[in-house]
Amino acid sequence: MSDSATGDAHRVAGDAGRADATGRVARDLDQVTAGAGDGTRAVRAGLPEPAKYEPTLPGPVFAAHYHLPGEPTGPYAYGRDENPTWTLLERAVGELEAPGQDGVETLVFASGMAAISAVLFSQLRAGDVCVLPDDGYQALPLVRAQLEAYGIEVRTAPTGGDAQLGVLDGAKLLWIETPSNPGLDVCDIRRLAKAAHARGALVAVDNTLATPLGQRPLELGADFAVASGTKQLTGHGDILLGYVVGRNPEAMAAVRRWRKIVGAIPGPMEAWLAHRSIATLQMRVDRQSATALAVAEALRERPEVTGLRYPGLPDDPAHKIAARQMRRYGCVVSFSLPTRARAERFLDALRLVDDATSFGGVRSTAERRGRWGGDAVPEGFIRLSVGAEDPEDLVADVLRALDASAA
Ligand SMILES: *Cc1c(COP(=O)(O)O)cnc(C)c1O
Repeated sequence: MSDSATGDAHRVAGDAGRADATGRVARDLDQVTAGAGDGTRAVRAGLPEPAKYEPTLPGPVFAAHYHLPGEPTGPYAYGRDENPTWTLLERAVGELEAPGQDGVETLVFASGMAAISAVLFSQLRAGDVCVLPDDGYQALPLVRAQLEAYGIEVRTAPTGGDAQLGVLDGAKLLWIETPSNPGLDVCDIRRLAKAAHARGALVAVDNTLATPLGQRPLELGADFAVASGTKQLTGHGDILLGYVVGRNPEAMAAVRRWRKIVGAIPGPMEAWLAHRSIATLQMRVDRQSATALAVAEALRERPEVTGLRYPGLPDDPAHKIAARQMRRYGCVVSFSLPTRARAERFLDALRLVDDATSFGGVRSTAERRGRWGGDAVPEGFIRLSVGAEDPEDLVADVLRALDASAA
């Protein structure tokens, strides 16, 4: 037992021994999957080269420190800085977010918010200007208040409609979230990145909802792809995780330094579970987005449903832009029922959909988003995350619950 655990640690460490002085790993294994399809890439992403008697995906390496005689050089010295299980997961995420791209670095974090904060707080200084969405993830207003407390000017713009273009002058960083959570608006990453770069601003995209199989922000011109791996990337609703992928070495060195300072690191077990889960990402995302479209199509026929949004619906206001930059449209459908009471009865009546927050898991969940406060949504607004159930079962459950809630 301890022999094989040690063997894994050594082999992974040896494998990552090709890392350069900053700990960045040569991504030569990426060549195996660079030209492959998404399913092939997902099952092989980040795996070490096969070695006799070793597992395909080495188990989690539990280490606060590593044997380190002499000068403290090399990739693995202390557990807050590096871990071989992270290294493999970081390679996997990098291969999915930026297949075949050289010079891309990935860092994993304890949560999506840890990753988001790492980019914002490592890139911005007092006096800098940052542009945030005003309809994005519900913790962004908290982040905004903290940025302002540090003397950073924050401007906001809605996700859709290109209003970001009007507030970019003098900005150091443009933050976009597309599709946005929970409103599912979409912005044109290519267009905004071009405009931001023309003004000398960096661009970060929150890619949580799309996942790297839905959209690849770096290919569309962004400097950072940032996401919560808590959602569909890992997909089972059992771990929190975040990541940052970037191609600018100085910017990424600052993000790495921030992770070291704050220590917002994932545990090895979470990192390993995440890597294991990524093997099924293509199957889950394909299944869940196909079913999400079926659910959206069924909801479209219902007179009590208003404000229905799903970027994959051909008549959705965001579909045109989404179709240009997304390869899959995600598992979240949002809509409103006429009243808060109606929405609560609907959620109560669902049998296959748990009333819970978060999204992206294999079991469908839904919630009345207004219960949290913070999001500018109607009282009857529902965010529905479509899981891996059989589509006909799920559609039938949703329609039955709508009928049952009419009373
Ligand atoms: C959930 C979420 C986050 C935060 O991720 P955590 O893992 O919960 O910290 C950030 N952005 C979006 C779009 C999210 O949905």
